Amino acid sequence: MTSLTGGGHCLREVPFAKPLISDEELRAVSRVLTSGWLTHGPKTKQFEKEFSEYCHAKHAIATSSGTAALHVSLAALGIKKGAEVIVPALTHVATAHVVLYQGARPVFADVDPETYNIDPIEIEKRVTKKTKAIIPVHFAGQPCKMDEIIKIAKEHNLHIVEDAAHAVGAEYKGKKIGALSTTSTCFSFYPTKNITTGEGGMITTENDALARVMEMMKAFGITKSPLERILSEKPWAYEVVMLGYNYRMTDIESVIGICQLKRLDKANDKRIENAKYLTEGLESVNGIQTPIVEKNVKHVFHVYQIKVSKNARLSRNELILKLKEKRIGTSVYYPLPVPLMPFYRKLHGYREGDYPTSEAASKTTIALPCHPLLSNEDLDYIISSIKELLSSN
Ligand SMILES: *Cc1c(COP(=O)(O)O)cnc(C)c1O
Repeated sequence: MTSLTGGGHCLREVPFAKPLISDEELRAVSRVLTSGWLTHGPKTKQFEKEFSEYCHAKHAIATSSGTAALHVSLAALGIKKGAEVIVPALTHVATAHVVLYQGARPVFADVDPETYNIDPIEIEKRVTKKTKAIIPVHFAGQPCKMDEIIKIAKEHNLHIVEDAAHAVGAEYKGKKIGALSTTSTCFSFYPTKNITTGEGGMITTENDALARVMEMMKAFGITKSPLERILSEKPWAYEVVMLGYNYRMTDIESVIGICQLKRLDKANDKRIENAKYLTEGLESVNGIQTPIVEKNVKHVFHVYQIKVSKNARLSRNELILKLKEKRIGTSVYYPLPVPLMPFYRKLHGYREGDYPTSEAASKTTIALPCHPLLSNEDLDYIISSIKELLSSN
């Protein structure tokens, strides 16, 4: 990425993630800033329309974050105290927090040892009379086994709210994530995600009535947005019909999203290419396992994860630190399963051993840089560094 010259030799630096921002975004933001309309106005509408078209979804509702998208989805469904929502044990804490925001109980299910996606068998085991919804997370950008999850949801009359924070542009059996006719799908545009607006999120749904509630829920529960009011015959009139939030996306963020969306497919293709290159370079290295991609999916590699085995020359943590010395940024998804985070442990009393596969993932995996700004030299540097660190002589 950046080459720092020191002591007569070049030290390469490869950041773990880097957003792809061009002059187009700079110009677009400056036009919004001087337009006099800064928040959830015409640009948000345009971004929502373009995003829904991209996903082949009927409705798209922009929010202030991926977390807000998930929260609005649960709130719009009326999930509340007494309800249970099944979520994977291995995920960003937001997936579980939103359930608690509603006063409901997150019920954790362990993940599949190959893809680290929520395991449908583990979901089925945890369905009770109180279960109202499942939040499958398309971990790393690889879609979950959706046919099986949809079947379980149908059998038990459950909603599916997809957490697609890692999976914008991903596909399941030829269909875009966001277009699988689940209850809703939630995306995140945080800077490390496959496209960014700084902070931001999006919900897609096919359900007209639910979309209408979500629209109001993200903006105080008010019946008309400021833009709708200006355009209406009674611009002064509005009503508050529910306890909504201020979870709106700004027009400043939306216009960045519009620019990013145009480059999404190309950026994802580069991630996929990078992943392939890394796998080809690393699959024969002793002591690590490269990611497993299932048939019938388009995995968009928000995360490229390797697994360090017990017989590797270095432990997982040693390898992370050695890579850091070589200025290669890495990350761990996630350092603990959510139920073992101190807050959740205290709340629900979970212990080590309750979620063995999620725990093993926390202890043995390393996410390597895979973002679209990596050059072939960066990738070669990552591969040769790992080879050197793990070779036995
Ligand atoms: C990033 C992320 C979120 C939260 O999205 P924000 O936009 O940061 O609020 C939720 N779930 C998963 C799996 C994520 O990676």
